[in-house]
Amino acid sequence: MVFQDEAAFRFVGGRVSVDFTATRGLRWRDRGVERIPAPADLARWFVEAGLTDLTVPVSASALRNARELREALYRLMRGRVRGEPLDGESIDLVNRWAAKAPPATRLTADGSATRLVAPTADGLLALVARDGVDLLGASRANRLRECSSDTCTLLYLDTSRAGSRRWCAMEACGSRDKMARYRRRAAD
Ligand SMILES: [Zn+2]
Repeated sequence: MVFQDEAAFRFVGGRVSVDFTATRGLRWRDRGVERIPAPADLARWFVEAGLTDLTVPVSASALRNARELREALYRLMRGRVRGEPLDGESIDLVNRWAAKAPPATRLTADGSATRLVAPTADGLLALVARDGVDLLGASRANRLRECSSDTCTLLYLDTSRAGSRRWCAMEACGSRDKMARYRRRAAD
């Protein structure tokens, strides 16, 4: 897994709410990379994130709201990583989304779970917000990390036993860092 396509979705966060913050990437750049530039991209993210099998209709305003929720989640998670006080406006925004109804689920006769009612963009964003609240409000939020690479700003949940994972993905940022150090040593 080498991150060559900047626009491709990243799923290295360990939680759906963390992965959602990665729909904007390379945040160290001026404006970063917007990975959900159009409503259809958000619909595609819902599917790739495993929230639904269906292509959900997404309006332009739903996309705007989604990005607002994303940035609020990002500010709160990055605040946790850096030990900063949580931003009150972001908390209110995430809470408003978490209070909305998620898509209804149903157990079928063959023992699998399906989302009975056709999910809406709002319902799926409510799921993402609830996941964020569950994570940020739990002790494991202290396992939230920001990738150690200078050229990567992805957040992830460190689930390693020792809690010493430094990279969003070893195959991408970890090995790139190793190569850079090797080259620096070779040039000395
Ligand atoms: Zn990284």
